[in-house]
Amino acid sequence: MSSKRIGFISLGCPKALVDSERILTRLRSESYEITPSYQDADLVVVNTCGFIGAAVEESLDSIGEALSENGKVIVTGCLGAREQEIRDRHPNVLEVTGTHALEEVLSAVHKHLPPEHDPFTSLIPPQGIKLTPRHYGYLKISEGCNHRCSFCIIPSMRGDLVSRPIAEVLKEAELLANAGVKEILVVSQDTSAYGVDTRYQSGIWQGQQLQTRFYDLANTLAELGIWIRMHYVYPYPHVDKIVPLMADGKILPYLDIPFQHASPRILKLMKRPAASENNLERIKAWRNICPEITIRSTFIVGFPGETEQEFEELLEFLTEAQLDRVGAFAYSPVKGAEANQLPDPVPEEIKEERLTRFMEHQTAISAQRLKNRIGHREIVLIDEVVEEGAVARSQSDAPEIDGQVFIDGASHLQVGNFVEVEIEDADEHDLWGKLV
Ligand code: SF4
Repeated sequence: MSSKRIGFISLGCPKALVDSERILTRLRSESYEITPSYQDADLVVVNTCGFIGAAVEESLDSIGEALSENGKVIVTGCLGAREQEIRDRHPNVLEVTGTHALEEVLSAVHKHLPPEHDPFTSLIPPQGIKLTPRHYGYLKISEGCNHRCSFCIIPSMRGDLVSRPIAEVLKEAELLANAGVKEILVVSQDTSAYGVDTRYQSGIWQGQQLQTRFYDLANTLAELGIWIRMHYVYPYPHVDKIVPLMADGKILPYLDIPFQHASPRILKLMKRPAASENNLERIKAWRNICPEITIRSTFIVGFPGETEQEFEELLEFLTEAQLDRVGAFAYSPVKGAEANQLPDPVPEEIKEERLTRFMEHQTAISAQRLKNRIGHREIVLIDEVVEEGAVARSQSDAPEIDGQVFIDGASHLQVGNFVEVEIEDADEHDLWGKLV
């Protein structure tokens, strides 16, 4: 009996990737086969992203491509919350479902491509299907967000924060580790808020009484003995308690904190979480406890009303904060976001000019910080082996978004291994090292 085949396109952030993995796991458990080719597929599922204007366009283009190459398309994910917009552009899509919509996607698939039941091919690995290479995996700890940042429509699409119980999250992490995963990336919309919605509900994990709380999660994940990396953390005071775990080598000395801006007035207009915290002081204190901490962040330039002076305040912040990795966007209005009503939009050419200045400013800082690592010895994780050598990542580099460490002539190494290298060279993004 030949299985029914589904093409799957996963767009957007790591959080969307985790949703895709859940959908794929269920599809495989129902005997569907997943194919990378439009031509072989009986239908195509597109998991979309709707965070910023450019992501919306990319999603709409991907739907168009799937329609013209295959013809039978089901749309899910963040952009699915804006069904009319999708149908205006692509009236022939079969079904549109929003986020949180695992069951809806599955019933849409059943409707248009009923499953064949075969219990012998229904077996799937207990850790589920993963889209990321086997040696790292994403762990989604919550869904939704209690904040209402004025440029963001995620809460209107995904709803308020719903944290997964700590025992369930730890169970999933353990399955990943048992399946050979060497690095877990913790993702959510706001990792530091984990458990707030459940009033830090208690749970039992391997005989330990724990709370559904950021600290308990980090401290217990550390027991797995693999790399644990924290994404989407906000600079609240309670995050200070996590940093000693980094200094002790329990979790990776890495924090991904989307600061978005540095001017108090703009942060207030953005309605950012922890907007009134003194971020520079906090960063300084963290580095005192854990000098090797890597801080990654993202920023928006050209937010409505941003003056030249406020933009320069942001550059000043970059100089002071000495962040390691930084991504930036020029502000682009997202349909339905409150920030669209704000006065004094920044003209397009000024936004672009500020983005260029911002990137030039930060590139010099990132390059210098990488250069400072030349001569140091570091443990790296091998991601890929090619003819010329191995491509790895250090503790400072998250997959997809940060840099890499190239090791020439090390093609005998294996993906998923940890090795020690001495850093020999650096540019503004990547490092080169030799095996020790
Ligand atoms: S913290 Fe702000 S930007 Fe992030 S998901 Fe929540 S509302 Fe959106």
